[in-house]
Amino acid sequence: MTRPTLLALGASLPVLLPVDALAQDADRHLLTGAEVVTMQGGWTEPQALDILIEDGRIAEIGPDLTAEGAEEIDLSGHVITPGLVDGHWHMWNTIARGMARSERGGFSQTMGPLAKVWTPEASALSVKLGMALAVNSGITWVNNWAHNTVSPAHADAEVAAMRDSGVRGRFSYGYPQAAGEGEMMDLADLRATAEDWESGRIGLGVSLRGPDRSEPEVWQTEITTARELGLPVTFHMGGSEDAAAQHNAQSLDEEGMLGEDIHVVHMTSAPRADLETLAESGSPLIISPWTEMQVGYGVPNPALMQAAGLDMAVSVDNTVLAGQINMFEVMRLTADLGDGFSQAQQSLTDATVFDWASRQGAASVQAPEGVGVLQIGGPADLIAVDTESLNTQPSGSMDFLLTHAADPEDVSFVMIGGEVHKQGGALTRVDMRALTREAAQMLDEIKAAAADG
Ligand SMILES: [Zn+2]
Repeated sequence: MTRPTLLALGASLPVLLPVDALAQDADRHLLTGAEVVTMQGGWTEPQALDILIEDGRIAEIGPDLTAEGAEEIDLSGHVITPGLVDGHWHMWNTIARGMARSERGGFSQTMGPLAKVWTPEASALSVKLGMALAVNSGITWVNNWAHNTVSPAHADAEVAAMRDSGVRGRFSYGYPQAAGEGEMMDLADLRATAEDWESGRIGLGVSLRGPDRSEPEVWQTEITTARELGLPVTFHMGGSEDAAAQHNAQSLDEEGMLGEDIHVVHMTSAPRADLETLAESGSPLIISPWTEMQVGYGVPNPALMQAAGLDMAVSVDNTVLAGQINMFEVMRLTADLGDGFSQAQQSLTDATVFDWASRQGAASVQAPEGVGVLQIGGPADLIAVDTESLNTQPSGSMDFLLTHAADPEDVSFVMIGGEVHKQGGALTRVDMRALTREAAQMLDEIKAAAADG
């Protein structure tokens, strides 16, 4: 047995790997020493298993594997799980962290003027920063909900930045923030984008204003067009009490415009009957508990959503409100809100919520086969969480550790499509300090342009 390189996890690595090292990365890896939660069929208890990765895919999962010529990565003291899945993230505004309030007022008053002067370069840089934050937090598949698609150039810039990142996900083509309720999104460019779409790690979808935020002719035409193009659709609905009072789940149902391809976000204030309408139609629900509270929608009740029979996914939404990109906090809050509303411990189990952030979440938002689970033939998108850190050792059970104890700093290792994105707790493909400085400078430029406008 030949194992040419033994990369100990704790070994210090250069922040930027040379190009030839990256090329070698994509080849064969043997992950050893860890416990593994595969999530095949739902939550699975951790088992001591090795994972062999070839050509970006999982070739073998089993105890004590050997693989001649493969690069061995020792992940002792870790749990390997599927990479986390984020169902709804407006990546275009990642550089605007904290700009949810200013002397102008709250979110809309502060972000509205910035959104109008937003450039393709700012969108691209935001996506780049967002993808670094995603990897840091263990997210390996993200639905980039592009709701400031000011022009085709903005869309192209976001797609290019997504592809450059090496992270897997979907670009959900959207509309300009300043679009009026009677104004159609750029359906011609959506069609052109769909026709020219190159397969790869990034899929294409559509994000709309939907019935809460656009006129019936607009949302009906937009949904019909997306369906003609075979693209999954997502929109916000039922967040605030005013929005929920419109009961647009019923309007959509009457039009035949719910189903597995229609992915609804929020429903924070919606009554159970409307949740059940979505569930019966097959439409999943994506929630973002932190930002739903921050923007004043109310407090989501994930236990009620589960009881209504919904297929669920969770999300970070954005940095503007949330500040952090921390899927562990999203999972913790989701689980604990369930128990709080139910007034019963573990009514919404930690295992269930981890499922929403991995296997079930991926299925809900129609991510490609194999995303959110570890299975032979599936993409090698996985993370290793330190189970012997200050945060995690000791922890009562693995599902508790993953949803309540661990933090992004405990994600030691991230692999996407067989390529290493984080190792020894450090991002391997991004010069973080240069990126954050560039982001701060870009935000200053946008703010100056908005002030001039
Ligand atoms: Zn949103």
